[in-house]
Amino acid sequence: MATVKKWVYGFNEGNAQMKELLGGKGANLAEMTNLGLPIPMGFTITTEACTDYYKSGRKISNEIQRQIFQALRWLEKENGKIFGDNSDPLLVSVRSGARVSMPGMMDTILNLGLNDISVEGFARKTKNPRFAYDSYRRFIQMFSDVVMEIPKSKFEKIIDEIKEEKGVKFDVDLDVSDMKELIRRFKAIYKEAIGSDFPQEPAMQLLEAVKAVFRSWDNPRANVYRRMNDIPGDWGTAVNIQTMVFGNMGNTSGTGVAFTRNPATGAKGIYGEYLIDAQGEDVVAGVRTPQPISKLEEDMPSCYREFIRLAHKLESHYRDMQDMEFTIQEGKLYFLQTRNGKRTAEAAINIACDLVDEGMITPEEALLRIEAKSLDQLLHPTFDANALKEGKVIGHALPASPGSAAGKVYFTAEDAKNAAAKGERVILVRLETSPEDIEGMHAAEGILTARGGMTSHAAVVARGMGTCCVSGCNELKVNEEEKTFDLNGTTYHEGDYISLDGSTGTIYEGAIPTVEAEISGNFGCIMRWADQFRKMQVRTNADTPADAENAVRLGAEGIGLCRTEHMFFDAERIPKFRRMILSDTVEQREAALNELIPYQRQDFIEMYKALRGRPMTIRFLDPPLHEFLPKTEADMRALAESMGLTYEKVKAHCDEMHEFNPMMGLRGCRLSVIYPEISRMQTRAVIEAAIAVKKEMNYDIVPEIMVPLIGDRKELLFVKNIIVETAEKVMKEQGYFLNYKVGTMIEIPRAALTADEVAKEADFFSFGTNDLTQMTFGFSRDDAGKFLETYYDHKIYEFDPFSKLDQTGVGQLMKMAVEKGRNENPMLHCGICGEHGGDPSSVAFCQELGLNYVSCSPFRVPIARLAAAQAAINLKNR
Ligand code: PEP
Ligand code: MG
Repeated sequence: MATVKKWVYGFNEGNAQMKELLGGKGANLAEMTNLGLPIPMGFTITTEACTDYYKSGRKISNEIQRQIFQALRWLEKENGKIFGDNSDPLLVSVRSGARVSMPGMMDTILNLGLNDISVEGFARKTKNPRFAYDSYRRFIQMFSDVVMEIPKSKFEKIIDEIKEEKGVKFDVDLDVSDMKELIRRFKAIYKEAIGSDFPQEPAMQLLEAVKAVFRSWDNPRANVYRRMNDIPGDWGTAVNIQTMVFGNMGNTSGTGVAFTRNPATGAKGIYGEYLIDAQGEDVVAGVRTPQPISKLEEDMPSCYREFIRLAHKLESHYRDMQDMEFTIQEGKLYFLQTRNGKRTAEAAINIACDLVDEGMITPEEALLRIEAKSLDQLLHPTFDANALKEGKVIGHALPASPGSAAGKVYFTAEDAKNAAAKGERVILVRLETSPEDIEGMHAAEGILTARGGMTSHAAVVARGMGTCCVSGCNELKVNEEEKTFDLNGTTYHEGDYISLDGSTGTIYEGAIPTVEAEISGNFGCIMRWADQFRKMQVRTNADTPADAENAVRLGAEGIGLCRTEHMFFDAERIPKFRRMILSDTVEQREAALNELIPYQRQDFIEMYKALRGRPMTIRFLDPPLHEFLPKTEADMRALAESMGLTYEKVKAHCDEMHEFNPMMGLRGCRLSVIYPEISRMQTRAVIEAAIAVKKEMNYDIVPEIMVPLIGDRKELLFVKNIIVETAEKVMKEQGYFLNYKVGTMIEIPRAALTADEVAKEADFFSFGTNDLTQMTFGFSRDDAGKFLETYYDHKIYEFDPFSKLDQTGVGQLMKMAVEKGRNENPMLHCGICGEHGGDPSSVAFCQELGLNYVSCSPFRVPIARLAAAQAAINLKNR
């Protein structure tokens, strides 16, 4: 007989290794059950059931339903209570739990199983009618919001109305008759919105809740979160059905969230907060500002001691910082969840180093614990210490996520996103954030909220994104409609500048200036370990001496791409460059080039000096002309004057040079084929600069000259002949000879397809995956942003192939090029210099291909160093 697939696991059937199937939460609940921790019993519906739900047209199959109810019968036995019973009902929570945690992105429903009749039994049984009716009204509220998508605000409005009618300020001041009235009005809203009565059948409530959790995997905020965090859409979420325990049963009950180390700084010690007489979501939702966990020691000392003991047990068991949720029901402690806690980059580094010192993990494991991308947080500028002293402090609140942010105030996620898209630095100011705000939070430099504690949604999400956040500023009076806030007696308007220090929780008026970050202390230690383990070199893309200097400071081992056209962007140089482009004759062009040479040579000299003997790959001109031609009448007039021409003539020339598709137009090596004098000028500048620095500093310089955008061996050969001829001539003139290399970019699919031929003429290949992606997908790197959003919405693509390498398509071309190229020329040096060189998953792919180096922008060099080490370790461990 064929075995029936298992879709549902009791907490006593799983373990921590089963995250893919049970989700992180489910696997850890099983692990804690095995460890003998006090866990309210329950079961997990697998992530496979979620994918099955989507495959079956958003339906839960009969077999899965059967297994859910079979597990429910088992849970009833475990608890000695019946689900839907009228006198003593078993109540459950229904929670999402993906393989990796996505805080606040998906949905939770508590107190499920109550109805108009069982609530009476529940009241009698608990001898606490207020509590029973409070639980029921919460359930109606959550079910209506999460399952039926009735706006939360409708229910909140009614709570405010009743409090006003009663003349009380807090929810806890409402008595049992108020709760009954709330229920009556809630049910009326439900009926009005849905057209039928609130469902009374617990089995139906359960199935609808499970479906809602499956659905929430696909809600817009979860999709955005996944794209930001590289989480594949086909993983699905598991669903955990767990016996309810109640933190809202009076003053000996409560609920909280705690970390075994500080998630913002990594400092050792229990760190968390809780609320007395509250239920689950009250803490994380940030609606009430909770108490620090140390207060629990005063309120319930034995619970506190037990909690600390078990928290330590969990940390040693998982050998990592834990983030735990707990509930105390009438003096009895329960753990509801544990997971490796989300942390800032600073905390990740400090915790990893501490755990190595404590002998819990090895340096290799420490490296794998740090999310490479998150290092970005540490590379951003910090406030200038002197300017900070002078800064006008306008308030203090909780230091929820570190960092230094200065920007203009905006009050909605939408406005923040739009302003950031226009290039403004933005501080998002909110009463409290909700998961819908995720895009605005992402766009903002910093977030300031009036409500919410250190573990509120705003804080957790901001820490995850590495965005500075100051939360729970009680004095902050936000007026979203007027787009103003009052703080410390002053009113601030949309567009006013403020600054936030996320490490101290201080709020300043105006924009405080910042200074560059440094790699030191534990960060330096992690980088040293990374350098020990990685196999690939890390170079940088730099076009100016300042960038080169900066990149070397961040650990770059050379320049993998110097885009020479970028050297002509500045105001003094660009007219000369335009004159060169618009020259009519060879003589004119040579004259223009002669003016450009001194700049280029001087830049190369300074860059060679900044590199202090490290290699530099200099790419010859590759200007898609639309980036360089004058666009406005004023620019054309200025250019005309400098060239001694009429405006009309220049305009006519620009019109003539207009290309319908400049990305595939007269650019790259084609320029050198049409105008060989350009390559002659550039070769001269490179060789003269190298000889000058070699003579002055005695660095062992081997110039690497790179020809862009070739698609055929003969194209490369044509330009290479010019380079070789000129280089030999210059060296003879100078009476000084040095080695140099000529290589090419692989950025046109045809170059990859004919890489064996191309390799005959090349000392090295560098994958220009920006163009290679553009040309392979056939969409423009400048325009794709406009339609990719829709592609994400329709799940045609899950991520931006210009940020994260498309391993399936573009990656295949790269693999082929490396193999064919090295077959022909075993010494062929291969690297990548497209934007992907600084993206961790793409770096891992480059390691698999056996590239010699990756090259990325200076600020991503430490990320690439760590990602390369992780890739090497993972490959070895496989
Ligand atoms: C590339 O195409 O990947 C590349 C590095 O060159 P550019 O971005 O200058 O076109
Ligand atoms: Mg390119």
